[in-house]
Amino acid sequence: MRFHDAFVWSVGDVADECLGGALCLFDPELHDGPARIEAPDERAARIEVARQVCASCPTLDGCLVYALTACPVSGVWAGHTAEELADLAAAESSSLGEVA
Ligand code: SF4
Repeated sequence: MRFHDAFVWSVGDVADECLGGALCLFDPELHDGPARIEAPDERAARIEVARQVCASCPTLDGCLVYALTACPVSGVWAGHTAEELADLAAAESSSLGEVA
């Protein structure tokens, strides 16, 4: 995998390639979402279960570092949606700018 290809990979793909012991390998659709459109309440329930799986994942810390760097556009990574990760990365970048 070339690093810059990461944004087109699913959570399951990256976990399989990089994160030994990743719990999302057992049910990738839980983290990536189904191939069909989900109802909002269905999506929210799926994301909540994915967050619970992440909370007990042995690769949580490495996954979070990876996700903050790769900036995925979908999926649940280290207990965060892609939108939440973008906000975290922006906040981190902003706080680093304040220190410099
Ligand atoms: S923290 Fe979550 S998304 Fe990351 S590898 Fe573990 S189960 Fe998968």
